Amino acid sequence: MAALPLLSLGAAVRAAAAGLLLAALWYFTVPDEPALRLCGFHWLTGRPCPLCGLTRAFFALAKGHWAEAVHFHALSPLAFAMVFALFWNGKASRRLWSVGSAAMVFYGALRIVIPGV
Ligand SMILES: [Zn+2]
Repeated sequence: MAALPLLSLGAAVRAAAAGLLLAALWYFTVPDEPALRLCGFHWLTGRPCPLCGLTRAFFALAKGHWAEAVHFHALSPLAFAMVFALFWNGKASRRLWSVGSAAMVFYGALRIVIPGV
């Protein structure tokens, strides 16, 4: 009797890729205030775009610094879950992306209109 594998090869590769991404986010650090902002929207308007702060927040989340991450971007835990859901192509992942994208658009609009949000 052959033993059934715990994970398919595809699932093992996706899990390894997710683990590598998490390890890289944990290992490396980005400055709290970058010397050069790469966001064109921020450069043009002086206001944060819907995605501003997510890079710094992801590095903070990987280290377990939730308060710091939420300071950079209030929906960063949701965005973090959305990115890691990309490694699993299932119904829950698609639903998370639908709800999460709508939340990001709404929050992004608030950030642009209301200073300090
Ligand atoms: Zn931006």
